[in-house]
Amino acid sequence: MKINLSSPDITQAEIDAVVAVLKTPQLSLGPKLPEFEQAIADYVGRKYAVAVNSGTSALHLVMLALGIGPGDEVITTPFSFIATTNCILMVGAKPVFVDIDPKTYNIDINKIVAKITPQTKAILPVEVFGNPANLDKIYQLAQKHNLYCIEDSCEALGSKVNGHMAGTLGDASTFAFYPNKQMTTGEGGIIVTDNKQLADRCCSLRNQGRDADAGWLAHARLGYNFRLSDINCALGIEQLKRIEEFVTKRARVAQWYREILADDPRIILPAEPDDCRMSWFVFVVRLADSFTVSQRDAILQYLRDKGIGCNNYFTPIHLQPFITEQLGTKKGDFPITEAVSQRTIALPFYNNLPRSSVETVCKELKNAIDNQIR
Ligand SMILES: *Cc1c(COP(=O)(O)O)cnc(C)c1O
Repeated sequence: MKINLSSPDITQAEIDAVVAVLKTPQLSLGPKLPEFEQAIADYVGRKYAVAVNSGTSALHLVMLALGIGPGDEVITTPFSFIATTNCILMVGAKPVFVDIDPKTYNIDINKIVAKITPQTKAILPVEVFGNPANLDKIYQLAQKHNLYCIEDSCEALGSKVNGHMAGTLGDASTFAFYPNKQMTTGEGGIIVTDNKQLADRCCSLRNQGRDADAGWLAHARLGYNFRLSDINCALGIEQLKRIEEFVTKRARVAQWYREILADDPRIILPAEPDDCRMSWFVFVVRLADSFTVSQRDAILQYLRDKGIGCNNYFTPIHLQPFITEQLGTKKGDFPITEAVSQRTIALPFYNNLPRSSVETVCKELKNAIDNQIR
């Protein structure tokens, strides 16, 4: 038996669209790039979109375009994928961590103000696992304190809070399209914003510092090659046409897990706030507080031995060796992040995961937990 942790949902339409690009001479900087950007901007409800080669590149360019750099502080969460913090370090600024809300796993809004200093330039919140809870309040807080708000929406394409899409708050938001995300371009990411200047700056930075109206060998500023090819964009256009289908399919799989794992006091199910539509990125359960990290790891090993994909999303960022070295962070600094991350288990989760597989995963998860408490 083999049940993957994630799996992309590719149909003949995606294959045909990619092959069609391969039959043209425009493999990059062709018509598929603006078409994909417009489609994402329209779906999310933003004026501008700038596609790049990864979600990390998208975050990096937003930091640069906003002029964040050495001497600046950016408030963010230690419970995320590493790119959230790395983009701050890449521009020479300092990440300032704030612990998370134990229910939503998002940055704890009540702990942000205490971390604001004269050096603070921005708040960088994340919709962890797709949960958009409190993002609008964080945006309001940033506005009140005259700070930029950069929304790392890389896990939340299709999520809604109070009726609007994730990715519509703040100065800019980013999405990512690695194959385990809600939709994929193979590799890829995108910046969305309503600020034309910011969008133009990101376009230039992704393309070797070229300005839109200047020549191929005219470089107005230090730039990067963070371009996304038309092959990737063609895949993205077809995937985006199916995004609502994806959100629905994922919600159905999440509901199966909920039904089958409900009423087991050893397992804490992910929160789903009332005023939100979750676009599920991953399905992460948490063991009850009585479980130790070694018990959790033994449960992961048991599942893997049975051929069931699983993972410990996330290891706290403030405890990654290079972060402790650079920032002097240590164990105990963010106790809620640490307590949560010791006990999480990401279970197999993708659009076409059959109910029978969900049942198998749940049965084996319960067996693994039984083994630990025996
Ligand atoms: C996936 C992800 C990113 C970007 O990842 P890439 O692999 O660079 O596309 C950034 N932030 C979060 C929270 C993510 O989950």
